[in-house]
Amino acid sequence: MMIKTIRVMLIPNNKQKTKLFQYANTARFAYNWALGREQENYKNGGKFISDGDLRKEFTQLKKTDEYVWLKSVSNNVTKQAIKDACIAYKNFFKGKSKYPRFKSKKKTRPSFYQDNVKIKFTNTHVKFESFSSSKKRNKAKLNWVRLAEHGRVPTDIDIKYMNPRVTFDGIHWWISVGIECPDNEEIPMNDGIGIDLGIKDLAICSDDHTYKNIHKSKTIKKLEKRKRRLQRSISRKYENNKKGESYCKTSNIIKREKELLKVNHRLTNIRKNYLHQTTSEIVNRKPRFICIEDLNVKGMMKNRHLSKAVQQQGFFEFKRQIEYKCKNNNIQMVIADRFYPSSKLCSCCGTIKKDLKLSDRIYKCDCGNVIDRDFQASINLRRYGEQFAF
Ligand SMILES: [Zn+2]
Repeated sequence: MMIKTIRVMLIPNNKQKTKLFQYANTARFAYNWALGREQENYKNGGKFISDGDLRKEFTQLKKTDEYVWLKSVSNNVTKQAIKDACIAYKNFFKGKSKYPRFKSKKKTRPSFYQDNVKIKFTNTHVKFESFSSSKKRNKAKLNWVRLAEHGRVPTDIDIKYMNPRVTFDGIHWWISVGIECPDNEEIPMNDGIGIDLGIKDLAICSDDHTYKNIHKSKTIKKLEKRKRRLQRSISRKYENNKKGESYCKTSNIIKREKELLKVNHRLTNIRKNYLHQTTSEIVNRKPRFICIEDLNVKGMMKNRHLSKAVQQQGFFEFKRQIEYKCKNNNIQMVIADRFYPSSKLCSCCGTIKKDLKLSDRIYKCDCGNVIDRDFQASINLRRYGEQFAF
């Protein structure tokens, strides 16, 4: 069995938004409380307190007047938060992770867990536990939050939802949930594909498919422009409102910063979606293997003009996606050795053209071979892959 994680945006109404924040706050409180108890206990020479014991203690806490507000949130939310804190604490002792930190209201993203048995999905909505405890139909509606994408989460009766988590990214709420999928046993039989990653085009495939560079699309250019304008205007406003040494945040700045965050989100989403589309398309052609080059070399060689970080990120994300999609589809993945001269090699006679410049878009060889440089690189990569594929 394979586990696939699905993430969908939520469209809560105002009452539901309040509930979501309340749940996240309570989860944070329970996490910090549990971590504090473990620390205190350790200082006093005690051993690790099991999460079961902590949960019992927490139930007692809820009965006191001071903490009566904890009762308005579903039990499972705090239960899991305590469990998370215990796991973080244990991992630290096993040397697996850093000393766990308390979750701060400002710095940590609001998030909480939903019970995986009680959660329910329809094509359009997700049901949360005890947003409303009323049985009246119009009040029980509060439990059902609208999903931005319809039909994305499977709703079969026998399906198991795993580790449902709800998070707020600064603008929107999201739900992510793991789903068991049967293993894919089909072995792809089509020709292997070599992929050359580039700047002018994102990916050139040896089976003659080319995927454009989305950074040059109108939508992205427009968004980038808006982003720069917002950044400039924000920093100008900060300067204008500077009081002595300290900067102050006016409501206008807050508004603009929110807008900037939105623009950045859109950019990231568009880029990521495009990469997903591209990698899925390639994998769906069912090649026996896919061969790409070592990205460390690529990054250094070609990233001179375009905004480096963004481009590089794109390459690594591309590789990450291809890698796991290959794995899910039983496609062998071959990474060419970093010294393999995929661009400089003539695909006809095997000569290596040492003085090939970055500006030479067309490769001309003495043997008579004239070919697009990047397309040839993809052909060479396919051949390279052939040596290593079963
Ligand atoms: Zn040649």
